[in-house]
Amino acid sequence: MKRTEPLEFHQPTSLAEATRIMLDRGPGGHFLAGGTDLVIAMKEKGLVPKYVVDLKKIPSLSGIREEAGGGIAVGALTTLREVETSPLIAGRYPFLARSAAEVGSIQIRNRATIGGNMANATPSADVAPALLALDARARLSGAGGERVMELRDFFRGPGQTVAQTGEVLTELSIPPQDPRLVGEYIKFSPRDMMDLAYIGVAVTLTLAEAGRRCESVAIALGAVSPTPMRAPQAEGLLRGQVLTEELAHRAGRQASEECSPISDVRSSAEYRRAMVRVNTARALLNAAAGSGPAPWTRRRDRRYG
Ligand SMILES: Cc1cc2nc3c(=O)[nH]c(=O)nc-3n(C[C@H](O)[C@H](O)[C@H](O)COP(=O)(O)OP(=O)(O)OC[C@H]3O[C@@H](n4cnc5c(N)ncnc54)[C@H](O)[C@@H]3O)c2cc1C
Repeated sequence: MKRTEPLEFHQPTSLAEATRIMLDRGPGGHFLAGGTDLVIAMKEKGLVPKYVVDLKKIPSLSGIREEAGGGIAVGALTTLREVETSPLIAGRYPFLARSAAEVGSIQIRNRATIGGNMANATPSADVAPALLALDARARLSGAGGERVMELRDFFRGPGQTVAQTGEVLTELSIPPQDPRLVGEYIKFSPRDMMDLAYIGVAVTLTLAEAGRRCESVAIALGAVSPTPMRAPQAEGLLRGQVLTEELAHRAGRQASEECSPISDVRSSAEYRRAMVRVNTARALLNAAAGSGPAPWTRRRDRRYG
């Protein structure tokens, strides 16, 4: 639909003001972060907001910091390029940095925010599986004050979250992890770049010093259910067991049975299930082998060099 009036544009400088504008102005408003989803929806998908509330002038919504006790807090307005290049994240959770690096192109990642990637609630959002595998939490601020929830409870369905009118997603936080934790993110998409995930798999593992017994395990999937999801039954197969190739493949099969993919322009549901099966096993074995940032860096250099 073509807009007949000028766009009403607000730039609040505090969270309280952002919430108040949304509550006063009523339905039809949208928060704006990097705009890489919202502006495309306005230009190409017929979205006609009554008004837009830009969050970028609110201080303290961006930045990555280590918290007392070893957790990491990432402000919702932090760009994906910052997540990708943060020494703290790359050092601690290289697979999370890698998941940010999988989004679009450098130009997109210089604008796109981690909060926008979550709040847009696309099932294929690249950063969601790595955050879910790290048991990340979402912090929201609105008329009723602040609340913190498990990220997995933040998503309600495609394009839908539990945020109430006027509630701003302010932060994603990663609780302290076992220093031995390793992980992997695999985005499966036939194109090298600028394509959404056909499926995404993130895993984290803590392995016993000797014998590769899985002390902790998390498997998170993207693009294969209405929201990014964990695969608890596949995790259950691994917990307390020695990670062998055979077991990794069994867990991959289980994960492919737990998800509920749809067929669409990118892929059939059957193909998505097959890709979950193969790539979950691969992600588990890669993580256990300690696939560090170096091979990935070389791969990115090939892509963008
Ligand atoms: C060319 C191109 C390629 C892309 N490739 C990928 C890809 O490979 N993988 C991928 O995952 N994504 C991809 N995207 C999508 C997009 O870049 C990401 O989802 C991005 O992280 C969205 O963040 P943003 O800051 O731009 O969000 P915006 O567009 O500003 O906002 C998105 C939605 O979230 C809401 N919102 C934003 N921030 C908040 C907040 N703090 N609190 C409450 N609500 C909020 C907005 O109201 C809006 O509804 C691509 C986009 C483009 C244009």
